[in-house]
Amino acid sequence: YSKNNGVNGYSFYFDELHTDAQRVLLLDTELRKAIESREFELYFQPKVTMEDEQIQGLEALVRWRNDKLGFVSPGEFIPYAEETGLIIPLSEAIIEKACEAVIQMQQSGWKIPVAINISSIHFKQQNFLESVQAILERYNMPASNFEIEVTERTVMNSANETVSKLVRLKQLGFKISIDDFGTGYSSLSYLVRFPLDCLKIDRSFIQHICSLAEKQAVVDAIIQMAHRLKMKVVAEGVEQAQQVDILRKMKCDIIQGYYYSKPLPLNELMEFMEYWEIEHQGRK
Ligand code: C2E
Ligand code: MG
Ligand code: MG
Ligand code: MG
Repeated sequence: YSKNNGVNGYSFYFDELHTDAQRVLLLDTELRKAIESREFELYFQPKVTMEDEQIQGLEALVRWRNDKLGFVSPGEFIPYAEETGLIIPLSEAIIEKACEAVIQMQQSGWKIPVAINISSIHFKQQNFLESVQAILERYNMPASNFEIEVTERTVMNSANETVSKLVRLKQLGFKISIDDFGTGYSSLSYLVRFPLDCLKIDRSFIQHICSLAEKQAVVDAIIQMAHRLKMKVVAEGVEQAQQVDILRKMKCDIIQGYYYSKPLPLNELMEFMEYWEIEHQGRK
């Protein structure tokens, strides 16, 4: 068997690598190489305002296609990178790529904030802020071009250190969103203590919003609470017009999901935005 057998060759090779341990070993080697060679790509998913259907922001989502492993989902390699500490160099590479994407968009006349997912492992690093700041400085990039998405788990312990990190991020100009809201097992006290801009309601609540009254009640309550606390609400994973209708009645601010667009590579995203602008011009 040789490496030159192409796609089928590899899948044959893979049939033999049937144990989990072997896959983990390969994942480890390939992930290290991929970080070194910046084999990753960022895809971008639009966030659309409910009121006037404007693309208000983009979420950067990492994609990894590897010649031995094929497409590996972030759901697989992000947790592994977190376990091994590889998340730090990976996360830094992702922020660099986000800066490069913002520059490319600016060159095409787009000025839309990009949300970056930050792992709790990276956030909790002592020098997290300095490392992010250093990258932005290198690209001569103001933080106001970005949002930071962190999960409840990341900010769960409202230690003074967490508060001060969030405050400093805000001072730098980042907007801050809580991702997958509703799935953490945290108390809500952090919502009052932290300078948050946005709650992103987890897809698991949105999924059954049309059929389950309980999910509707929870989503409605989250939206009202967020608004009282002067936060915007994003609904994640919206796929159907019916869901949009319900969310509109509940005064949800922003919609994200396949209903509008899947995450797209930058060139396709810019085409999408051009098309979108033409379609929605009259509604501004
Ligand atoms: P997340 O940040 O909550 O991202 C939302 C996930 O839902 C993405 O999956 C997105 O592709 C998917 N999605 C969006 N709209 C829909 C929809 O309408 N229906 C369905 N079924 N799915 C939808 P993805 O890209 O596979 O990412 C999964 C998770 O991996 C992310 O959840 C995030 O926690 C993590 N992740 C992805 N990219 C990065 C990254 O650059 N850095 C870090 N630290 N984590 C990342
Ligand atoms: Mg996210
Ligand atoms: Mg999410
Ligand atoms: Mg998620």
